Amino acid sequence: MEKKTEDIIQQSLNALLEDENFLPDLQGDTRQQAFKSLASILSTPNHINKSFLRIALENGQVVRVPAFRVQHNNTLGPYKGGIRFHESVNEDEVSNLAKLMTLKNALHEVPFGGGKGGVIIKPRDYSTKELNLICKKYVQYFSDIIGTDKDIPAPDVGTSEREMDWMMAEYKTIHPGQPYRGSFTGKSVINGGSLGRREATGKGVYFCYRYMLHNFVKENQNWLSEGDNIFAKTALGYIDRPLTMAVQGFGNVGSVAAMEAYKCNHMQNKVVAVSDQNVTVYNSEGLDIPGLLKYTSKHDGDLPTTKDALEEYDLKADILDRDSLLTLEVDTLVLAALEDQIHMNNVEDIKANMIVEGANAPITEDADQFLSEKGVVIIPDILANAGGVIVSYLEWMQGRETQFYNEDEIYELLYDKMQHTLDTILPQFYGDPFPLRQNCYIHSVTKLSTILYRQGKLY
Ligand code: NAD
Repeated sequence: MEKKTEDIIQQSLNALLEDENFLPDLQGDTRQQAFKSLASILSTPNHINKSFLRIALENGQVVRVPAFRVQHNNTLGPYKGGIRFHESVNEDEVSNLAKLMTLKNALHEVPFGGGKGGVIIKPRDYSTKELNLICKKYVQYFSDIIGTDKDIPAPDVGTSEREMDWMMAEYKTIHPGQPYRGSFTGKSVINGGSLGRREATGKGVYFCYRYMLHNFVKENQNWLSEGDNIFAKTALGYIDRPLTMAVQGFGNVGSVAAMEAYKCNHMQNKVVAVSDQNVTVYNSEGLDIPGLLKYTSKHDGDLPTTKDALEEYDLKADILDRDSLLTLEVDTLVLAALEDQIHMNNVEDIKANMIVEGANAPITEDADQFLSEKGVVIIPDILANAGGVIVSYLEWMQGRETQFYNEDEIYELLYDKMQHTLDTILPQFYGDPFPLRQNCYIHSVTKLSTILYRQGKLY
């Protein structure tokens, strides 16, 4: 997966090298050399921090838990990125996610760099007390490298506001008298978190999709239909007709995106399927998303897996295999679970012609190429799922100022920022043969490269 990110960074640099308007002061050998330096800087993390946390379990056993904090790049500001608790997280994955954070923040003009954390555990195998200890130890082991102006973690898969509250409290204990509110984002509101942070990523994901179709494509359909861009042709097939959607992953991101889509059912949009780590729940007439949310809130976040469970909550749906969601006959797939969900073994069975990446890196490099050649429009992770980091930035600012916005103000600021990025990126959808992902990368790499050059870092 890391190779895919590196390849696209390199392709972006190749395109910029050929563009004579980009850094025109750099010519000849100096230009070649500077671009080699950029490739080296952008493809390598600044630091990979790894520790084995010593945890005393409640049964008296002491275990070592592997934990990482990768700090990719801080050209634009302090490192920023979530901490993932998952049994399959590893150094390469965390490193790639840190790199994506650098690109995402550059794309949306959020003044942060890129970082990411991971702890190799299955959270459900640990008691609340043990999880609390793991969080405290994580902060103790990495306390020197984390901080309001150094590196600011946030929740990711397997972590939530509860873990951020615990971690911030430990940070405060270790660093008495120092500013601490901005050391972690995604905290609970009572503990200095921002209203709207939990919903921000899912809302942003759906906003991106809706804005692209109902604003950009609809308003520009005349000139979009004049060209022969395959992605524009696909997108034009999505306007002024009912659309069906399937959402993979019903956690923080997926459930909120599904709810946003459900709220738009007056536009004849239907969420016909959602899935989680156990099952797919399907109804061709559209699912009762609020009913499913009521169910998951009482069942540890899990979707119903039996007919009886559906009936108990008066939910009309069929239970299908977990992975069958991906190959359903739907217009749009929202991927909001984990990495590498679409790969060469299932890509030929994908029927959706539009895919929105709520998760980070959910499509492998070769599958991505296969879909792009077919004309499938992919709204990439760094564009679509930035709502979380945008509201994290607002939380960080509110923590510094101890002045707080209300929920409506937060969503207005979030949508303004995302719209600004979309208005910059989407017009290139037409004039350029590159897929959206490549355009987003070029935009991010342009910004990072220009700043690195101006700061004299390429000599
Ligand atoms: P989460 O832990 O709240 O939810 C993950 C969901 O995916 C759960 O419903 C889980 O059951 C499901 N799932 C796991 N494996 C699955 C599988 N094989 N098939 C179907 N479903 C599966 O996590 P989240 O915070 O919603 O994050 C989801 C993705 O979005 C991750 O890639 C994360 O990095 C990315 N992301 C999250 C945020 C955020 O603010 N939370 C921000 C940006 C990106």
